[in-house]
Amino acid sequence: MIRYFVAAVFLASAASMAQAPPAPRSPAPDPRLGYTDTPMLPGLPYHVHDPARPRPATVTPAARVGDAPSDATVLFDGTNLTAWTPTKQAWKVENGYFEVVPNSGDLRTKERFGDVQLHVEWAAPAQVRGDSQNRGNSGIFLHGRYEVQVLDSFDNLTYPDGQAGALYGQWPPLVNAVRKPGEWQSYDIVFEAPRFEGTRLVKPAFMTVFLNGVLLHNRKELMGPTVHRALASYAPQPAEDSLVLQDHQQPVRYRNIWIRRL
Ligand code: MG
Repeated sequence: MIRYFVAAVFLASAASMAQAPPAPRSPAPDPRLGYTDTPMLPGLPYHVHDPARPRPATVTPAARVGDAPSDATVLFDGTNLTAWTPTKQAWKVENGYFEVVPNSGDLRTKERFGDVQLHVEWAAPAQVRGDSQNRGNSGIFLHGRYEVQVLDSFDNLTYPDGQAGALYGQWPPLVNAVRKPGEWQSYDIVFEAPRFEGTRLVKPAFMTVFLNGVLLHNRKELMGPTVHRALASYAPQPAEDSLVLQDHQQPVRYRNIWIRRL
């Protein structure tokens, strides 16, 4: 009899151990702040509507869409190029923009960045000269390696993976949303830098690009750093690097450049 009793107690306690739900957390005192009697989110240490979840930082947006929010690093505010390493011959700054001085060399930020959101405005020369890749060519190189093409692609045929908004040599933009030469264009770019463990690539780079508010690339995977007439391939690189604007020997203009670390 005692044997049965011990066995029953043992089974009962084993069953209660197996089925024991986690100790219920007391509901949040104020339901406006969230709930703790809700299901756990899969793979996360939080309940649905958990009041303990870290609260996002407050960012003050600009008064005008396209201008820098409060947490951005301004790389060009219309007045000077102090955020950039001087080129052989200084790029021209006037009337709130700066302009590529042909054969002066690429422009590189002094600061280096990893994953970022980037806003850049540019204008191809109003006076059309040349064609294909020789019309208003410049480029925005994330990490100094991954080019979002800048080109006067208004009524200007070239290879699709080299037109404005192309991830050069890899992916044409989804559409051609370019304005006329001389008009200001705006890029909004999200760049995820590649990750390496030692010399091994563990995550490629990704790029999301809007031109004039129109989506050109939705988190597109890059094949490697930009190359011309060749296949891209990854090689180990620093986790952060400079943003670079290309001198392609044409007087392309830039203004209102800001960047946010992600
Ligand atoms: Mg280019």
